[in-house]
Amino acid sequence: MADIHLIETKPRNETRAVRVGNVTIGGGAPIAVQSMAATKTQNIEATVRQVQLLEAAGADLVRIAVDSRKDVEALAEIRGRTSAVLSVDLQENYRLAEFVAPHVNKIRYNPGHLYHHEREKPVRDKVAFIAEIAQRNDCALRVGVNCGSVDPVMTAKFGDDDVGAMVASALEHCAILDDLGFTRYVVSMKDSDWKKVVEGNQRFAAQRPDVPLHLGVTEAGMPPEGIIKTRVAFEQLIPQGIGDTIRVSLTLPFERKGEEIAVGREILADIAAGRFRSVPPRFGEGLNIISCPSCSRVENEAFIELAQHVKEMAAYAQDYAITIAVMGCRVNGPGETDDADLGLWCGPAAVNLKRGEESLGAYPYDEVLDRLRVELDAIIEARRR
Ligand code: SF4
Repeated sequence: MADIHLIETKPRNETRAVRVGNVTIGGGAPIAVQSMAATKTQNIEATVRQVQLLEAAGADLVRIAVDSRKDVEALAEIRGRTSAVLSVDLQENYRLAEFVAPHVNKIRYNPGHLYHHEREKPVRDKVAFIAEIAQRNDCALRVGVNCGSVDPVMTAKFGDDDVGAMVASALEHCAILDDLGFTRYVVSMKDSDWKKVVEGNQRFAAQRPDVPLHLGVTEAGMPPEGIIKTRVAFEQLIPQGIGDTIRVSLTLPFERKGEEIAVGREILADIAAGRFRSVPPRFGEGLNIISCPSCSRVENEAFIELAQHVKEMAAYAQDYAITIAVMGCRVNGPGETDDADLGLWCGPAAVNLKRGEESLGAYPYDEVLDRLRVELDAIIEARRR
């Protein structure tokens, strides 16, 4: 990639300073670089090693996923074995906040997942519960909106404008937290499409320039494409003064997760020095493979190899605008593959294959590629007609 031009950067938005352990996000502090442990949280040895590896790579903050009380017990032990600034990712069970908060510095909740439990309870009450727990335990919060799992109420309201739904959901939760008097929060709005990440963050920042933003392209995929998608998004946003912390999400083997931090720091250094990179010709026009960065929920470590094999197998289709999504688990896999032409989400022993929203069945890891190829050929054939 060659340097192509220098861009005059705007000053950072004057966001509030949000303290997370000994790290400050926003308020003019250096942009914090963070990542997430990809190991199973209950595998304490592996997760401690993963946290140490990310710290050694220069992570300011390390996130861990917690889905159950057993994960909480593991988290408590991990906390005792590392001094890293820890954040936790709550999935559907928002009530776990109560048990994780004593062990971490920040809690991320997804507004789109809050409705799963206690459906009769108003969202505001659930947010109040989380905020009160955070306050009591000296934790910051992240309102982490994901375009693939936006609150269904917003989705119904905004129809095809999924970016609008994502931004409205983030704004709604900011308003709730402000109203509750809890201002120690940051916001993220992520998608696997970097253009939506840019648009969402721009729209949000225009309305709430005071709220610190966590930037990231989710399920960006494998290097180098995953790095390019992320770089393009950050190059669009950071020079506009938008962004206080970043996460680069790449599908990588566990022992290489430190590369997410290295890549993040390199992108930040390039932007700070005015070095903006060109995008390869026709980037984003042909085959698009999105794959999650994996986390403790990954159901089979073979997922990472599978993602690589999908990329190699599908290379022959590079000229076709076809999206293949490869996801590591049942938590986000079924939903996040809906918009892809072909989707694979991993279970413990089998891979679930989808064509759009339609399920094509579950296949053993060593058979799914052949079936995927048949489906890919069929799509290409249909487009040739
Ligand atoms: S799809 Fe599942 S395994 Fe992959 S990052 Fe998301 S939650 Fe983790």
